[in-house]
Amino acid sequence: MSIITSIQTFILHVPVTRGGIADSTHSISHWGVPGVIIRTDDGLAGYGFAGTHAHLATDRLISSCIAEAYGPLLIGKDATEVAHLWDLLAHCPPIQWVGRCGITHLALAAIDIALWDIKAKHAGLPLWKLLGGSASKRLEAYNTDGGWLNWPTETLVGDCKRLVEVEGYRGVKIKIGSPEPGRDLDRLEKVRNAIGPSIKLMVDANGRLDLPAAVQIGRRLRDFDVVWFEEPMWYDDVAGHATLARQIDTPIALGEQLYRLDEFRNFVSAAAVHFVQPDVTRLAGITEWWQVADLALAYRLPVAAHVGDMGQIHVHTSIAHRACGILEFIPWIRDCFTDPATVREGYYVTPQQPGAGTTLKPDAIERFGVR
Ligand code: MG
Repeated sequence: MSIITSIQTFILHVPVTRGGIADSTHSISHWGVPGVIIRTDDGLAGYGFAGTHAHLATDRLISSCIAEAYGPLLIGKDATEVAHLWDLLAHCPPIQWVGRCGITHLALAAIDIALWDIKAKHAGLPLWKLLGGSASKRLEAYNTDGGWLNWPTETLVGDCKRLVEVEGYRGVKIKIGSPEPGRDLDRLEKVRNAIGPSIKLMVDANGRLDLPAAVQIGRRLRDFDVVWFEEPMWYDDVAGHATLARQIDTPIALGEQLYRLDEFRNFVSAAAVHFVQPDVTRLAGITEWWQVADLALAYRLPVAAHVGDMGQIHVHTSIAHRACGILEFIPWIRDCFTDPATVREGYYVTPQQPGAGTTLKPDAIERFGVR
C-alpha cells in the first residue's frame, strides 16, 4: 500500500535546439512539460508529465484538469493499484462526457505515468524491470533532431552526417511535406548520399499531404531505401492511409496523434499502418500504451514509439515490450531529470534508477518552470 496524500502540478518550458525547430505543420521554440508530482504516505513521490508545444494557456488547462478534475478522485487511494486507478479515472462519467481525448487525456497520461513511477519506486526497480524486461535487450536509437524542415540543406546534411559518423547513430529521420516536393526529394537524396546505404533513413510529413501528393512522393521513397513514411496525411484518415498503403512500397508509420486504443485498432485492422507509434504522453499513459503495443504485436507489427517524453519513459516501456526494437531520440529535456535518457553508440543506455525515469532534478522547476 502506498496511499496518495497530495497532488502538485508543474509546467516546464524547455528551449529546443538552436532556438527553434519546424516541420511541415508545427513550429516551436520550447517543449512544454505539464506534469504532476503525486506524493504518498510512505514518503514516495511519483513524477509524470505530458508533452506540448509550450503553449501556456493550454498547458494551464492540462494542469487544472489534473488538479481539479482528477486530483480529488486520487486522494486516499493506493497508488500501486495503477490499472484500477486508470480505469476509475478514464471512465469517470462527467470527465469522459467532456473529453475522451485531448486535454483530459494528456492530463490522465501525466497521472498514469506518475502512478507507474510510484509503483516502480515502491518495488525498488526501474520500470523496465518491473514490466518484465531484461538488461540483455539492446534498444536501438534513431535521431530526429538533425532533420528539421527549417534547417537549411547544408545544416541538415551536416547534422545527419555528424549524428551517424561522430555520435554513432544507425538511423536518422528527416522532415518532408514542404510546399516544394522537389526540394524534399533533393534533401532526401543528399542525406542518403551523406550517410551511406547501411544507415536507416526515415521521413515524416507530419500529416500535411493529400492523397495524390502522398502517393506521388511515396512512390519515390523506395529510390532512397526509406524505412518508413511517417504521418503522410491527416491523423484520423484511416481510409486514406489504407489506400496509400496499397499504392506504395514503403511502409507507413503513424500514431503520435492518436489518443486511444480504439483509434489504433481502426488503423491496424484496416491495414493502414505498418510501424505503430504510440506515445505514453498522448495515449492515457503507460497503461494504454501497453495495450496498443500488445495490439500491434497481435498483428505482427513493430512498435516504434513517438517520444513526446523525449524517451525518458519510452526507454523503459520499449525495453520491456517485445514489439519494440527501435526508439526515437530527441535530447531537448534531458537537463530536467535525475536519470536523463542517454544514447551511446546508437543504443539507449538501460536506466538503473528505480522508477519510470521521470524524477525531476531539484532545480528543474526553478530553471524551466512557468506559471
Ligand atoms: Mg512524427
